[in-house]
Amino acid sequence: MAIQEGRWDCSTCGTKGILGRYRECDNCGAPRPEGVRFYLPENASEVMNAEQLAIAKAGADWICEYCGASNRAKEENCVECGAPKSKVTQAVKEYSSSNVPRSAATPVMSSGPSTIPTSIARSRTSQSKGKGKGYRWWLGMVAIAASGIVGITLFFTLPMTVEATVSGLSWERKVTIERLTTLTESDWSVPAGGRLLSQQQEIRSYEKVIDRYETKTRQVSEKVKVGTETYTCGKRDLGNGFFEDKKCTRNVYQTKTRTETYEDPVYREEPVYDTKYTYQIDRWVRDRVEVASGGTKQPYWPEFALGANEREARRSQTYQVFFAGQKGKSYTLKLDPGLWNTFDPGESHTLKINRMGGVKLAENH
Ligand SMILES: [Zn+2]
Ligand SMILES: [Zn+2]
Repeated sequence: MAIQEGRWDCSTCGTKGILGRYRECDNCGAPRPEGVRFYLPENASEVMNAEQLAIAKAGADWICEYCGASNRAKEENCVECGAPKSKVTQAVKEYSSSNVPRSAATPVMSSGPSTIPTSIARSRTSQSKGKGKGYRWWLGMVAIAASGIVGITLFFTLPMTVEATVSGLSWERKVTIERLTTLTESDWSVPAGGRLLSQQQEIRSYEKVIDRYETKTRQVSEKVKVGTETYTCGKRDLGNGFFEDKKCTRNVYQTKTRTETYEDPVYREEPVYDTKYTYQIDRWVRDRVEVASGGTKQPYWPEFALGANEREARRSQTYQVFFAGQKGKSYTLKLDPGLWNTFDPGESHTLKINRMGGVKLAENH
């Protein structure tokens, strides 16, 4: 237990740093008052003097109720006036390492804006400047890349116009016909209208189940308490001008690695069976497509007869105009019936053609 000598300041004459061992101001002679604040300078050396060590370990000083003199714990009567020992003593206080008083002034928590050292402030400024430059460079690259993409896109989409002559028209009309057909199907259930033929157990899915366990080993690290240690956790103001180290104990841990065995599950796929049904069912199945087509402006639907168990499923129609351009080039336009009907062979039209091969009419027709 290292002992160090504290200091105190005289509140009567203002003298600072009076040695802890003095019970009177060495300048004005005023007695060290009750509740004086003892403090311990950072560089205080360890006390080795036996007499001083005895004083330090004797206990807190007491204050004479009659004359105010400060007396050592061992004194039974006031050394100044002879009055009997009083119960008024200097307080014994404990401080954690970070709160040891280093001056007579009571520490004040600093408030208000904290200042950044100039060197750090400067380096921050230069950093953000550099960042800005990099950002601008990056924006530039994006702009160049974007304009490149726009250029390429324009090249492929900006149409060119050509003059072409209508060389022909075509139309095609289709009717899809379905027939009610008896099918044989199998499934995990029989749908409405199905006629059951047979049923059997089949594998429907697989389930992961634990087959067995394998014994394996692995390394496990653990924090293990191996004992306790005593360390200096602060200072104790002994109330007599001296301070001693405050000791605390704490647990000491060590990381230990050991080999552990464990059971590792091994899985297998277990088939799950279910009943599969084979049944007959009548469904509408595409049977044929009736087509009519021609090159004149009088389109008509194909003529057909529906047999027993047949029905018309859907109709579709396609209308095209063919153009002859220059240098033997030909173009095809697919149009809705109303517009298609306004074209006649031999007419001249302006077409827009993009580089992807798309053809459009340049004018309103
Ligand atoms: Zn003084
Ligand atoms: Zn006294």
